[in-house]
Amino acid sequence: MSRKYIDCREFPSERNCTVALSADSEEELLEAACQHAVAVHGETESPELRQMIRQGIHEGTPPLAVQGVASRPAPAAH
Ligand SMILES: [Zn+2]
Repeated sequence: MSRKYIDCREFPSERNCTVALSADSEEELLEAACQHAVAVHGETESPELRQMIRQGIHEGTPPLAVQGVASRPAPAAH
């Protein structure tokens, strides 16, 4: 089973959030990302929010850096 991830750096945010979440299933990931969006970004739980998050899900593991964001030290991913 492939790993899936969502990277908060890809979403517009006034907090410049750099959190990335990963999970084995899209449902787990969606749930975790939804909780993060509500708790940290003050979003409201809604079908629209879930849809937006779902569109940000990628296959694989989070990259060390996304384009336009300064790279920062990260622990070994394995
Ligand atoms: Zn975030």
